[in-house]
Amino acid sequence: MNDVIRHAAKETFRTACGKDNGMSLITVKNLAVGYEGQAVEKDISFSVSKGDYLCILGENGSGKTTLMKTLLHLQKPIAGEILLQDGLRSDEIGYLPQQTVIQKDFPASVREIVRSGCLGRAGLHPFYGKEEKALAEQNMERMGIKELARRSYRELSGGQQQRVLLARALCATQKLLVLDEPVTGLDPKATMEMYELIKQLNQEGVAIIMITHDVNVAVQYSSHVLHVGTPSFYGTKESYLSSDLGKLFLLQRSKEMTADAGKGGNHD
Ligand code: ADP
Repeated sequence: MNDVIRHAAKETFRTACGKDNGMSLITVKNLAVGYEGQAVEKDISFSVSKGDYLCILGENGSGKTTLMKTLLHLQKPIAGEILLQDGLRSDEIGYLPQQTVIQKDFPASVREIVRSGCLGRAGLHPFYGKEEKALAEQNMERMGIKELARRSYRELSGGQQQRVLLARALCATQKLLVLDEPVTGLDPKATMEMYELIKQLNQEGVAIIMITHDVNVAVQYSSHVLHVGTPSFYGTKESYLSSDLGKLFLLQRSKEMTADAGKGGNHD
């Protein structure tokens, strides 16, 4: 990557980080993330405010999931700061992890799984109160899965399972949802429905941080882009699209999609 791109990306990065942080929910400053003291990615800075939709892009292995785990306090930062603001507590960040095969086979009912999103609110007692139960019903309704409440989670389609996990995450938060590749394994129709649901939640005021490998999704839905790697980028979607890095990534992705279409497969 040439110096011009590196410089341009840093310039946009500074400008974007200079936005008024008065309403930020989360601000990340010069963060380094990694394992056993070894940084996978460093100098990450960005902020997310109410109503923002941040897409995290980057090549495979660039550190996107590691960053997300660090934001969720599942892992310690190697350096830098993560500031939660505007009254956001760490247990108020709703998380939709990438589904593993084991999770897909989880032997519990839809209602039980959605209610488990209230555990942070329920405190130490192991029972759900009236408020938590009502919240779970409300979020099942919101995600269009109320009629599935008694069904076993493992019998559902991938798209229905993701709606259950979204309803669960919404029990933890009305402020910030963190999603790691939420459409992995879904068919095109379920994928589209999932993105539209996330868009609707964002329009209702929930801030979104979403990892995606698909730059076209970022183009369609995000307000801001964090591109992890060398060079890195953080700024509005518009400035990303007019940056050399954004143009390059978009071109690369469309070439991959054309090649996949030629093979009749689905790239991931
Ligand atoms: P991405 O989400 O962008 O594909 P990851 O954050 O999953 O990237 O991984 C970034 C790098 O960290 C990779 O080189 C990966 O091999 C490494 N890595 C991931 N998990 C671990 C772990 N538990 N211990 C050590 N290294 C890891």
